[in-house]
Amino acid sequence: MTLNWIAPAERIQKLPPYVFARLDELKAKAREQGLDLIDLGMGNPDGATPQPVVEAAIKALQNPANHGYPPFEGTASFRRAITNWYRRRYEVDLDPDSEALPLLGSKEGLTHLALAYINPGDLVLVPSPAYPAHFRGPVIAGGKVHSLILTPENDWLIDLAAIPDAVAEQAKMLYFNYPSNPTAATAPREFFTEIVAFARKYEILLVHDLCYAELAFDGYQPTSLLEIKGAKDIGVEFHTMSKTYNMAGWRVGFVVGNRHVIQGLRTLKTNLDYGIFAALQTAAETALQLPDVYLKEVQERYRNRRDFLIQGLGKLGWNVDKTKATMYLWVKCPVGRGSTDFALDVLQKTGVVVTPGNAFGVAGEGYVRISLIAECDRLGEALHRFEQAGIHYC
Ligand SMILES: *Cc1c(COP(=O)(O)O)cnc(C)c1O
Repeated sequence: MTLNWIAPAERIQKLPPYVFARLDELKAKAREQGLDLIDLGMGNPDGATPQPVVEAAIKALQNPANHGYPPFEGTASFRRAITNWYRRRYEVDLDPDSEALPLLGSKEGLTHLALAYINPGDLVLVPSPAYPAHFRGPVIAGGKVHSLILTPENDWLIDLAAIPDAVAEQAKMLYFNYPSNPTAATAPREFFTEIVAFARKYEILLVHDLCYAELAFDGYQPTSLLEIKGAKDIGVEFHTMSKTYNMAGWRVGFVVGNRHVIQGLRTLKTNLDYGIFAALQTAAETALQLPDVYLKEVQERYRNRRDFLIQGLGKLGWNVDKTKATMYLWVKCPVGRGSTDFALDVLQKTGVVVTPGNAFGVAGEGYVRISLIAECDRLGEALHRFEQAGIHYC
């Protein structure tokens, strides 16, 4: 007997279609045929976790005290490492007991925060394009998503002045993310000041995703929401160990900021999970304490790849501005080509995987995202195949 006549809940049915499905199918087929795929589609860092972090994990694994259920709210020492890191990096003081909460990766927290705060029908402001969890979380919670359309003319920044008063008054929550996945845009400090004033005025819970806090280049230092005066009254900020520290598989992130919001999320999570394996929290602590020379190395690696790929794409007719942060290039499809159509064409002709921009919302249409997750020799191979297949900007 099959149960396919029992329909899944509306919250699942309402999710926008999964754009990656057709791409995954073609990827699987290409692999079966033994094609040498160059996968620049995911935001999955290709490097190894730093050796001191791996060693800290091995040592912590040997300690039976770490083998039981971890504390719901995360270990005290990881929370302290988080607030110490904040003080060192941003000169912001936070209380490790009430203003910091470890997460099973930031995606988990970003999504669950919507469940903790959004009632069916509540309005949530989310940029388009955006990281999918920023709109999928609110949809799962039954909220109504109002898209804030981003454009290249406005440097992919949210145009706060364009949000109608009636919408702002109704909105309960706003997600945003600079440096941005997928556009790689960064926001000047004044923008943060403006968005904090906006959220305070309309009493909106401000959710900033700073997962590229340290993947920045040429001396640029991304702004933390909590550096802005008054931000902690209305906001929280999410961080991840996945990107900077090559720990995507470990599933460790954290949220900091307003204590009431953090308490709300903690209450939901005590009903859903038991937190992060304590041994991994010890390792994550080590990562946050790594000397800056490690960061410099990571930043150099991505900066080299960025320069290499921008130059190569330039020879194929693409004029891509130098990015100041993230591990992505946000690249225009040739004129008149749709994102999905172009990404599938590139995959079929070259075996190079790029992500269609519409996976990040309607306003991502007309673009593809290329991740800098391969060494320059592989990126060079990808460019060579583009040239051979006649793929260029026109
Ligand atoms: C990669 C990424 C995350 C990280 O998610 P984890 O669950 O912590 O691995 C969160 N937000 C954005 C915008 C990302 O690009």
